[in-house]
Amino acid sequence: MQRRKFIAQSTLATASLLAPARLGCWPYAEKKLGVALVGLGNYATRQLAPALQQTQHCRLAGIVTGTPSKAESWKAQYQIPEKNIYNYNNFDEIRNNPDIDIVYVVLPNSMHAEFSIRAAKAGKHVICEKPMALNVKECEQMIAACKTAKVQLGVGYRLYYDPYHLEIRRLGTQKVHGAVKTIESSLGFSMADPKVWRLNKALGGGGAIMDLGVYCIQGARRTVGELPSAVTAQGFVRDEKVFKDIFEMVMFQMEFPGGAVSNSTTTYSSYVDRLHVTSGYQWYGLQPSYNATGASGETFEGKLNFQTPEFQQIAQLDAFAQDVLNGRTPEASGQEGMIDLKIIEAIVKAANTGKRVVLDWKGF
Ligand code: NAD
Repeated sequence: MQRRKFIAQSTLATASLLAPARLGCWPYAEKKLGVALVGLGNYATRQLAPALQQTQHCRLAGIVTGTPSKAESWKAQYQIPEKNIYNYNNFDEIRNNPDIDIVYVVLPNSMHAEFSIRAAKAGKHVICEKPMALNVKECEQMIAACKTAKVQLGVGYRLYYDPYHLEIRRLGTQKVHGAVKTIESSLGFSMADPKVWRLNKALGGGGAIMDLGVYCIQGARRTVGELPSAVTAQGFVRDEKVFKDIFEMVMFQMEFPGGAVSNSTTTYSSYVDRLHVTSGYQWYGLQPSYNATGASGETFEGKLNFQTPEFQQIAQLDAFAQDVLNGRTPEASGQEGMIDLKIIEAIVKAANTGKRVVLDWKGF
């Protein structure tokens, strides 16, 4: 116990020597980094705030909301001091608040770029929810703003830290059962309420492919450890009353340089959540795979069995906090978010034109 404590303290002490300047008050070694959640909707309420009660290296320190009643209830539930509560207008004053080290943007997709850039300009490290932005251009602006401000930028990719996903990645990239040949990687659920922002093109960016595409793309590209060289895609609308200017479902295929080919469905009309990998006669996969309620997995040899915490976000948040403390680029970096947006842009282009789109990764 004593030894573990010593190792933990000395690791943090070393980290504090390497840490960049913007970490609030000294000493860093004894401080859990303060996180402010921006946007108190479903994901912030049901997953991130509870996860932040169990993190070791960061804590829920502030909130940013446009709804005064939410400010009151969160203040009472999580003992958030009044001085750490902001709205969307006075948000930039967060620059003067040493309690906040990290701003976590959990707003509708169209607001990610604006609030991430404002957070960076306020000198705060940034975690932005997925998809990182509406397009590659916005991602570039976010990365540049964080670079200029010398703050870290991460994307809320909780599965980068999930043991089931890491195991599939190990089996695939290390070719444990031979080179990967095919991947099926799909995510969908039923959503027919036309009033939700996810179905509004301006706010959501384009329906299921924007909302769920990042998971299907990551599942495939991280299993082979490669970026796709080309994509083909097909977009469908079956319910024209609900899906007016966005695809209801997008099916897409990615070709990888090592020979693997993936096939994916993203849909807002039915439940699907699976990653299935084949290499010759061997297979392995996850079902469910991507939902925040946790993964379950199996290989041709039997069930996968990992101990997982109550919330996947605990590992994600602690990893980001440690990256900040160590001045290290996060595994789920802005660059990773931008890669997925580049692939989504190519998929949408392929779905709109019916043509195969070749991806050029020079400069990435
Ligand atoms: P939500 O609709 O439940 O919450 C959105 C929040 O933004 C609400 O508090 C709402 O009041 C606020 N908001 C501010 N301006 C708004 C506007 N103009 N229109 C609508 N809402 C506005 O959504 P959510 O499910 O919490 O998703 C928020 C973000 O988190 C999205 O980017 C989503 O993709 C992401 N998300 C990530 C995961 C994950 O597993 N990583 C899971 C769910 C959602």
